[in-house]
Amino acid sequence: MSIRAILINTYELGRQPFGIAQAAAWLRNAGHDVVCLDLAVQSLEAESLSRADLVALHVPMHTATRIAVEALPRIRALAPGARLCAFGLYAPVNEFLFRGLGADTVLGGEFEPGLASLARRIANGNDSPQSEPVINLNKIPFVAPDRTGLPPLSAYASLILADGGERTLGFTEASRGCKHLCRHCPVVPVYEGRFRIVPVNVIMQDVRAQVAAGAQHISFGDPDFLNGPSHAIRVIRALHREFPELSYDVTIKVEHIVNSGSVLSELSRTGCLFITTAVESVDDEILARLDKGHTRADFEKATAMLRDAGISMAPTFVPFTPWTTVEGYVDLLNALIKLRLVENVPPVQLTIRLLVPNGSYLFHIPGFDDLVKEFDPSTLGHPWNNRDQRVDMLQQECHALVQDAEAEDIPRRETFKQIYRRAYARLGENPPALPEDLGSPIPRHSEPWYCCAEPTDHQLVSF
Ligand code: SF4
Repeated sequence: MSIRAILINTYELGRQPFGIAQAAAWLRNAGHDVVCLDLAVQSLEAESLSRADLVALHVPMHTATRIAVEALPRIRALAPGARLCAFGLYAPVNEFLFRGLGADTVLGGEFEPGLASLARRIANGNDSPQSEPVINLNKIPFVAPDRTGLPPLSAYASLILADGGERTLGFTEASRGCKHLCRHCPVVPVYEGRFRIVPVNVIMQDVRAQVAAGAQHISFGDPDFLNGPSHAIRVIRALHREFPELSYDVTIKVEHIVNSGSVLSELSRTGCLFITTAVESVDDEILARLDKGHTRADFEKATAMLRDAGISMAPTFVPFTPWTTVEGYVDLLNALIKLRLVENVPPVQLTIRLLVPNGSYLFHIPGFDDLVKEFDPSTLGHPWNNRDQRVDMLQQECHALVQDAEAEDIPRRETFKQIYRRAYARLGENPPALPEDLGSPIPRHSEPWYCCAEPTDHQLVSF
């Protein structure tokens, strides 16, 4: 017996999702009829949903989860006879919320066997409660992702080169989870210091299919590409051997960059254009609270190492935390000026507030409970206010300013200048004149990377 399943991606930073393609492959290999829908670029299809036996929503990140929560009541109405499931990184930490919205199955970690088991149960007419583990960390046999039925790559974000040229963007994953335990990280409550690798042949099957579909650049979505350095090297060598023209980007933590030895030259040689790295802060006390495993000096060293290797750095930040001061924020802006990284940072990165999801390891910090309020289902986090009202006001000003700038397509350095002036105004000082050399544009995705900002109206209206 087979079922009709609808797999819905809500949002994955404008990239064609690997998670949906893996899930689709597992279900199709088991003989089920699968329709894939991506709310990032498509609308809900009333006709498909009305005939579904199972509707499974993929929630790989915070924004995706917010969108899924908004969409679920409408999905319930359009698919009254279907079983609902939420799967992906953010599903387990929001388990009770999803169950309250009608999802009877919640799957995180290596979710594919659970999804296949649920489909089997539905096919067998078994309507008993979830028997699959909410978090599965057992190693699974990854299969070649099946992207059939997903919108074309041209419907998604693209790669913008430093000279303004454009490349079609593909997306895959060489690993999941992470061996580190940074306290603010959403990966940690699920994987708790473990990571799982995707076999090289599976990655190459996925890359091959995407190149055939027009991909000219591959973005690796691993939380950290160098959790398993030997695996990473095998992947990029295989990629470069078969597709020497293909460029790619990866995410690597500062600590791994600093300790990477000869890996950086290998990345550069094989076509790595830029590395996204979660710097989060330039305040060593805040970095210690987050247990990031690096210092400000390490960030500066990593910046120099990537420049030497000819790879651009795309640093990301969580500049607004309960411990942020206006002086500290100004210090961050000045650090970016001094390191000539202004063009490397999407302005949205300078507006992000610390997200405190359910189960966050931030609660391991003594006294952290006193800084936050009760979990708020409408924002999927524990709200907090900075003790200095000026910091929260500055964050709101920067957030509004960046939204306007993005709507008007204002260049990064111009938006940075506005943020710089606003920050100094909150400090009650005149800003020093900016140097001429703020750095040069770098390759980037047309949709910026972030993991915990609010969904925009554009993202929410698609259903
Ligand atoms: S922030 Fe990065 S390095 Fe730290 S636990 Fe998360 S994925 Fe791993």
